[in-house]
Amino acid sequence: MLSLGFDIGGTTIKAGVVDENYVITRKTARPTPKSDPEAMCGLIAAVAAELAGGDCDIDTVGVTVPGSVDKDGGIIDAWNIGLRNVPLKKMIEARIHARRVIVRNDADAAAEAELLLGALKGVETGVMLTLGTGVGGCLVLGGRLFHGGLDRGTELGHAMLDRGGLLCGCGHRGCIETLCSATALKRMAEKAAEGGEGMIARLAGEGALVDAKLLIDCAENGDELALKLFDGYTDALADAVASFVNVLDPQVIVIGGGISAAGDFLLDPLRRKVPGKCFFGSCGSIIKAQAGNDAGIIGAVI
Ligand SMILES: [Zn+2]
Repeated sequence: MLSLGFDIGGTTIKAGVVDENYVITRKTARPTPKSDPEAMCGLIAAVAAELAGGDCDIDTVGVTVPGSVDKDGGIIDAWNIGLRNVPLKKMIEARIHARRVIVRNDADAAAEAELLLGALKGVETGVMLTLGTGVGGCLVLGGRLFHGGLDRGTELGHAMLDRGGLLCGCGHRGCIETLCSATALKRMAEKAAEGGEGMIARLAGEGALVDAKLLIDCAENGDELALKLFDGYTDALADAVASFVNVLDPQVIVIGGGISAAGDFLLDPLRRKVPGKCFFGSCGSIIKAQAGNDAGIIGAVI
């Protein structure tokens, strides 16, 4: 019996076959169709058929979305992919014959993967932040993922960090997401590229893709401007993490998502900065997500 996981991101849908030991045995990716629920479901059905390769015995189709999901597997709001009030689970059930269809928030899925296999295994109280196109986040309480008192999940990325700050995709201003996402780093990189000075501008002039990775790469290579920008980024992220530490006093803070690929280059400044911003002057361990880039695909089917 097959389990198929789909991780819908702001730019790419990653999908894979997940075996009974939660290992991905086959994988594929497609660009994310935006603002079109029918196209989204059609693509999921087509990729499911491709991954199943004629095997009709599908046990689970799990889909993670970068947005809030209700208890019936419907999308409440996923602005990064332009979907709002979409009964995604029902639409997939109408197209794919499977024993079980699951639709869940992407950060929740990543945390489920960490609870089962990775950095949150055995943890009673934890916080996880996923730094991607947006900022996802979830809480582990009593060793289990906390889905919110009204079952809509937790939106840590939309806690306020900068009152009256930049407009967030959610419609509010100054959310953590506006300063701590890959999109925020990309915005900084674009500004640096326009400024014409430093390694970011030079590489952009040579045709490099101007994104979060370019800024991080230049900072790791010691470029002064990139280092300064990245220092501002980790300052903002440390403020955000410290707020959650003060709320929950977690044993572990897990950092996942695309930006976590920077590893200790990202985590060491956080480990240095966060304790000083916390009420107790100390905090639990700050560690990188361990289920890796495929946590969304695996977490979708758990
Ligand atoms: Zn927001």
